[in-house]
Amino acid sequence: MSSPALALDDVSHSYGAVRAVIDLSLAVAPGEVVCLLGPSGCGKSTVLRLAAGLEEVQAGRIAINGILAGAPGTHVPPEDRNVGLVFQDFALFPHLTICNNVGFGLRSRDPVVRRERILAALGDVGLVHAEQAFPHMLSGGEQQRVALARALAPRPRLVLLDEPFSGLDARLREQVRDVTVEALRKSGTATLMVTHDAEEAMFMADRIAVMRDGRIVQEGTPIDLYRHPISLFVAAFFGEINRLAGTARHGEVATRFGPVPTGLADGAAAEVVIRPEALRVSLAGETGSGTVPARVVSAHPLGRSTRLVLALDDGHRVKARIWGLYHPAVGAPVMLALDPRQAFVFPVD
Ligand code: ADP
Repeated sequence: MSSPALALDDVSHSYGAVRAVIDLSLAVAPGEVVCLLGPSGCGKSTVLRLAAGLEEVQAGRIAINGILAGAPGTHVPPEDRNVGLVFQDFALFPHLTICNNVGFGLRSRDPVVRRERILAALGDVGLVHAEQAFPHMLSGGEQQRVALARALAPRPRLVLLDEPFSGLDARLREQVRDVTVEALRKSGTATLMVTHDAEEAMFMADRIAVMRDGRIVQEGTPIDLYRHPISLFVAAFFGEINRLAGTARHGEVATRFGPVPTGLADGAAAEVVIRPEALRVSLAGETGSGTVPARVVSAHPLGRSTRLVLALDDGHRVKARIWGLYHPAVGAPVMLALDPRQAFVFPVD
């Protein structure tokens, strides 16, 4: 089996008294896209900076393509790691044309090869026509595509992306994400990307590692993490949730929406987490309608979906999200049913 493109083993890193990364192990296989996902300050960028060689390893070891790149007393400098870097602020060279920006890492190559590589990399991000332009002549999205082309042109075996789309507005972000995923897949390079946006991680990643307070708390495919979060923290990170308190009895927690299965011991205090899209909403009296009556408190049609706040008979409020545009009157009676596959039970801390 080939070595991972990147392997971190038991890596820890502190800035003075701040423990930014704690005993973290993570591997990225060749061709794989892995996202580090977590809230601001959880240590994501530090992991990336360590992998890039921008920080020296204080504890643990980092190997790139099976070769030791960092450990206490060993530090391969960033320029010798054959790693492509893309940061949020693009960091293009303002005085160089797009062509020379993309060719920057290829200066020592034969001019014919260099030219070929530049055009191929620009072709992959759809910007061949801009090769003679200067960065300030391009939009933010185009500049970010150039930054990606620059990182990929030397054909590194590992690319590191730090919040690469966060400087772009929402619409542009989607376009640049599409181009980026396609270019990364085509290049076959291993990718480690940092983001605090769960939807972005789900869109980009083969595998997501969720970080909290310097540690990886769960790792898996996007669908795994969405369907089987191991904690309230992970569940909440993947979108809005409803929280209901309960107690485990005979392998179930009773809720207003019916029993939800759990492995918790009898008598354990439990928290039931329900995603808004797990609640089926139908008009009262409709055939096949749910069993729990509620009234509409607010409805916000958002285009692709509608977000509802609903009040149950006991006054408890829940959030629901349904596909398409739906604008019931405030106070309208509805019936709710729960898809138990999207309800999770966690022990109360
Ligand atoms: P993230 O990328 O998840 O936002 P970082 O890796 O940037 O997290 O930061 C992790 C922790 O380390 C935070 O508490 C942050 O304030 C601290 N930190 C990051 N860089 C430095 C630095 N150069 N000096 C001191 N503290 C830092």
